[in-house]
Amino acid sequence: MPLFSFDGSVLGGFAPGARSLVETMLFSQAGMLTARQAEELASCLSISTDNLPEKLLPVAAACAVVPVSNFHVGVVMRGGSGALYLGANMEFEQSVLGMSLHGEQSATNNVWLHGETSVTSLVVNAAPCGHCRQFLHELKCSDTLQVKIVSADGQYYDNTLSQYLPEAFGPGDLGVEGGILASKSVSLGCEADDELAQLALDAANKSYAPYTGGYAGVVLEASDGTTAVGRYAENAAYNPSLPPFTSAMSRLRFMTLGRDVELKSITLVGKDTSITHATHIAALKHLYPDTEIRIFQAV
Ligand SMILES: [Zn+2]
Repeated sequence: MPLFSFDGSVLGGFAPGARSLVETMLFSQAGMLTARQAEELASCLSISTDNLPEKLLPVAAACAVVPVSNFHVGVVMRGGSGALYLGANMEFEQSVLGMSLHGEQSATNNVWLHGETSVTSLVVNAAPCGHCRQFLHELKCSDTLQVKIVSADGQYYDNTLSQYLPEAFGPGDLGVEGGILASKSVSLGCEADDELAQLALDAANKSYAPYTGGYAGVVLEASDGTTAVGRYAENAAYNPSLPPFTSAMSRLRFMTLGRDVELKSITLVGKDTSITHATHIAALKHLYPDTEIRIFQAV
């Protein structure tokens, strides 16, 4: 059974020149527009680049995978380079709600996996929940992050994250400096030397686990040959942490928009400390019985 579906009718709202750029973003660049492409698209739409993220919200929301709630959250983040990144929520049928990925996490993940090291703003089509405010507080640039809410009833709110999350608990309270996007790589190894395991190891080395040291990366192999990596991202408040499998699923979603794919294999490379990702990944066999699951230690 295909993992995802995508309703492309949202593209119908764009005239041909603009539509081709939106299609490039969706189908060739995994939900990313470079700063130059964003300027070009804004020009095609006769709007300012500042207003472009809002215009792209319905496109982002169309990327949501929401079989449980049917509630589509769309997010557009602007990276420090000026590039734009889409994010959308994702739910997992036959699993627990706690496994859900929120739109703001998805957009941050997209920024991170594209190699961007800072974000300046995000626009979202519903008020960020407390979980997401806490997740975003883990970004090194969270103090200056501008968050614009464009709600369905036409209400606008535009504030910094610190105004939405006063008296916040964060990395500094646990003696950690840095944060997601700005963290340094570690240099773990792995005995498995096949290509997928090495990709997962690279993701583990770039993951963010300052509280437990449980660095972990996942690689998903899709039936059409696409490989999508995911990185673990911890949070000072623990629960909003992003598991590497969920990170990889969001990546795969954006890499295969508009195509029917199945999940061929899941490869985890992770370092077991006081925590482990291995039990979570092994339990995925219940959700994906036909998928090969491989688990390796990072040392
Ligand atoms: Zn949320």
